[in-house]
Amino acid sequence: MYTPLANKYRPQKFADVVGQDVAVKILTKAILKDRVGHSILFTGTRGVGKTTLARILAKTLRCENRQPNEYEPCGKCESCLNFSKDSQIDVIEIDAASNTGVDDVREIIESCRYKPTTGKYKIFIIDEVHMLSKSAFNALLKTLEEPPEHVKFLMATTEIFKIPETILSRVLRFDLKNVDSVLISQYLSTVCNRENISVGAEALSLVARFANGSIRDSLSILDQILNVADNNSLSAEQVREILCVSDDSDLLELFSLIMSSNLKDSVEKYREIISNEVAAKAVLTRLMDFVYFVTCVKTNLKITDKTLPEESENELRKIAQNTSLSSLSRIWQMLVKGADELKICDRQEIALEMLIIRIIYASHLPDLDEFLKKLTADSFSVSEDRDINSQTSESTSLLAEAMKSFPNAKLK
Ligand SMILES: [Zn+2]
Repeated sequence: MYTPLANKYRPQKFADVVGQDVAVKILTKAILKDRVGHSILFTGTRGVGKTTLARILAKTLRCENRQPNEYEPCGKCESCLNFSKDSQIDVIEIDAASNTGVDDVREIIESCRYKPTTGKYKIFIIDEVHMLSKSAFNALLKTLEEPPEHVKFLMATTEIFKIPETILSRVLRFDLKNVDSVLISQYLSTVCNRENISVGAEALSLVARFANGSIRDSLSILDQILNVADNNSLSAEQVREILCVSDDSDLLELFSLIMSSNLKDSVEKYREIISNEVAAKAVLTRLMDFVYFVTCVKTNLKITDKTLPEESENELRKIAQNTSLSSLSRIWQMLVKGADELKICDRQEIALEMLIIRIIYASHLPDLDEFLKKLTADSFSVSEDRDINSQTSESTSLLAEAMKSFPNAKLK
């Protein structure tokens, strides 16, 4: 039977976890010292391994063969095997998204009173814990304060800011980070070797980039594109086609045109890219990458993303020479806002075209830094033969114009 790669390669022990070194180090040390907290909260974006880590921890704590000087589950005892079969009685997984109420939590608390049927610990894994209602959190609080010795709460959330302070102060918190795309592409390459699939480095780095820091997503994407691969091999060209991403050189050309404020050519280039079935979101993401790269160059920071070919890097360095930091941050802001707009728009390709036009229009407006300098200089050099009122109204209209390009700025 076919098993999706994301399931097949789901980490079964701490050593399998990719890209969460800090969390793994702290947890394994705590296991060795027998000092694992009663309530642990994993936070991070989707697919970074929150529930995976919670499950490995639960498995380790319940493993029957584990010696005090070991921190991995054996994978062979009854408890470990039950884990693989998803038939653990003493590990209770709750999806808070569908069990949000106070009664659901009362049920959990009630069952806390009873010792595990086997082993040392009864473990509750509560996923999407931020979905619990206020009264449910309150009900849980008391138990978190004084949990029975035999109980562990392992919680996961994508939205840490929705968790009440009172809860946060009683849990050990792990902030899982998005996995670096270079690390993802290295990982995918080992998976491909094991699976006897031939995929080049460029194709893998495209998949890694598309996975947005999630190993799980990267495997699902790989699965998806392998469905259309012939003879278990994939070229970068095929990956681009399937993922609806454009050739990087096309996108770089578009970026360069936008940065030189060339409205007509920018829109034409954009339409050409979109006409090849490229998703607007992919274009937007890449434009954001480019703004980030140029900002790094501008501020003498190292470019950490290795997905950029050398010739592209040279091109971006040239763009950096002709762009100010303030316009880069302005464009970044507009792109971030645009990403939100794209989500609510049915016709994303039009939304992005409008955004490109807006960015170029804004680039013709005075730069705020320059403008403020000019404004200060003006106020100090009011010439006697000029009417001060006309000068002020000129400045005010200039200011009003400039403010349009800073949607978040407020006039005091
Ligand atoms: Zn075991």
